[in-house]
Amino acid sequence: MSVDELTDLLRASSAVVAFSGAGISTESGIPDFRSPGGVWTRYDPRDLTFDRYVDDVEVRTTTWAMRRELFGADPKPNAAHRALADLQTAGCLHALITQNIDGLHTDAGCRDVIEVHGTAREVGCIGAAPRGGRPDGCGWREHTSWAFEAIDAGTDDPRCPGCGGLVKSATISFGQQLDPSVLEAAAEATATGDLFITIGSSLQVHPAAGLPELAVREGVPLVIVNDEATPFDGVADLVVRGRAGEVLGPAVTAALA
Ligand code: NAD
Repeated sequence: MSVDELTDLLRASSAVVAFSGAGISTESGIPDFRSPGGVWTRYDPRDLTFDRYVDDVEVRTTTWAMRRELFGADPKPNAAHRALADLQTAGCLHALITQNIDGLHTDAGCRDVIEVHGTAREVGCIGAAPRGGRPDGCGWREHTSWAFEAIDAGTDDPRCPGCGGLVKSATISFGQQLDPSVLEAAAEATATGDLFITIGSSLQVHPAAGLPELAVREGVPLVIVNDEATPFDGVADLVVRGRAGEVLGPAVTAALA
């Protein structure tokens, strides 16, 4: 029933803003933080803060192992990622904003994805680590496979080939600033769309919670697709409780038919 309502809303909209969280990728085999078992029972990203990464070679080594475990199985986009790509191809997607770092929206064929937490697909130089200060990189960036190849060749702690600085995945760690220009682009898109759909996000922390809040303030209809309740369910125009691929796939197919 509510999938039909989502179809109707999609049909009536020409500037959809989609906002995805970790839940859109669980059907691709990447666990969110709440999934029982799996990788997050062994690695707590809240311990792997930016400052600890800079200070401690063991944290860097652990972080590389975690990245390889999460993305080494070569996950593929699922029906929800593909549905958003279809919506974009049809010219109905105003913006795609994601908290995810897995790159699966791009793999599904989406362009111009606004990645508020960066991407695990690339690594970059974060420079040397001055005592008591924050390092600053030289701008070098590479595909993440570069780091795994360096580790396989015997380095525990890959260093920037340009300046010798520390190398980190191009993601935002706990304790690291989000890029204000990326956040601005996300807010601008949210305020100028005609439908805002959150998919697979618990909407519990900022900036995740700030965007649906902004949509509501701007009078943009809010749809929530999630398999559990969120704090925004009471103010949403439509809540579809279910799995992302099973909801978005048929809704988008029907809306574009
Ligand atoms: P989150 O706060 O975005 O919550 C995920 C939500 O999705 C939960 O409410 C969960 O019940 C729901 N969910 C899980 N599978 C679903 C499905 N198939 N269909 C519909 N809903 C589903 O994410 P989080 O796990 O708390 O992570 C917080 C931060 O860590 C975010 O930035 C997140 O993107 C990032 N993270 C990213 C990845 C990734 O890139 N794939 C994986 C884990 C965590």
